[in-house]
Amino acid sequence: MTWQRVADELVVAFDPSEQVVLADPSGQVEALFRLLSEGTRDASQLAAALVGDHPDVTAAEVESAIDALDALHLLESAERKPLPNGQRERHFSNLAFFETFASLGRSAEDFQRRLLDAHVVVLGAGGLGSTVLLNLAGLGVGRLTVLDHDRVEPRNFARQFLYSNADIGDVKVDRAAARLLAFDPELRVSTVARRVTGPADVAPLLSDADLLVTGVDQPAEVDVWVNEACLAAGVPYVRGGMLPTRVVYWSVDPGRSACYSCALRADATAAQAASTSSAARTLAQQRPTVNRGIGPVASLAGSLVALEALRYLTGFAPPAAAGRFRLVDFRDGVSETEQVWPRDPDCHACAAVPTLVASTGVD
Ligand SMILES: [Zn+2]
Repeated sequence: MTWQRVADELVVAFDPSEQVVLADPSGQVEALFRLLSEGTRDASQLAAALVGDHPDVTAAEVESAIDALDALHLLESAERKPLPNGQRERHFSNLAFFETFASLGRSAEDFQRRLLDAHVVVLGAGGLGSTVLLNLAGLGVGRLTVLDHDRVEPRNFARQFLYSNADIGDVKVDRAAARLLAFDPELRVSTVARRVTGPADVAPLLSDADLLVTGVDQPAEVDVWVNEACLAAGVPYVRGGMLPTRVVYWSVDPGRSACYSCALRADATAAQAASTSSAARTLAQQRPTVNRGIGPVASLAGSLVALEALRYLTGFAPPAAAGRFRLVDFRDGVSETEQVWPRDPDCHACAAVPTLVASTGVD
């Protein structure tokens, strides 16, 4: 935390893009900042140290000032538990990112440890999966399970940067695992070489999973199957896909957000009422039969999905796509729209999980 005095105010900068201005005509706040930056005192000791120059200050006032600064994510504990040396260097930029969201109760290292302990199941190691897997590995997600039934083909190379020329003809999940372990030998990677043919193919993968990511397009029912399996297991999931000129992604937070079956039910009701085709139906009809996905589009889709995954795994911010389709369109530059769908009280898939309090982000 750095600050600068401007007349009776302090301008505090932690993240260069954000500044907080605090009134401090008496200089008490600045004196408190100096003591805090030494990192050696608790609230009552801070009040005792301040009382010499500022005799009116009470311990209660210092405590409430600390709470307010903590709510702004301006403080971190001097007693934070460090990561081992090697991990600290490996995750240097991840830790720097999490510092923006850290507080006295939750350090940047705590965010990183959450990722190191996490298990994410990724369905599909194609265009979306390639980017998602590399991003999750870079973030330090400790355990990955990868499902895909395909072999590497030359036509994959427009967007599937997980593979190289020497992999052509090999089983994708084998090459994906090898690449991920070459990237970071501390990862734990499991592979499943098969198609998804129903919820029963997904359910066994979720027993100790924190999150599922899916980019599987076929068959048409696959999203319903994934939705059903994840809701029954109480595991959130993020879905990403590509239309010829658009990226679409959404997520489902079981018990908190509407689910994909809710979207289908809302869609069917809307279609009956006004013959209009709403989001789920439109997207289902637009499943590409010829894959026109190019690298920049697949990479952006995968990155948006990985960022949503990070929200679920760490809570650094609330999920951005829970119960809503988010679409990024490239035809007019880059525009973004979203289509929110309501939670259906009669949805049988949602009935499998209790209603929970909406996620509030950092916990
Ligand atoms: Zn539902």
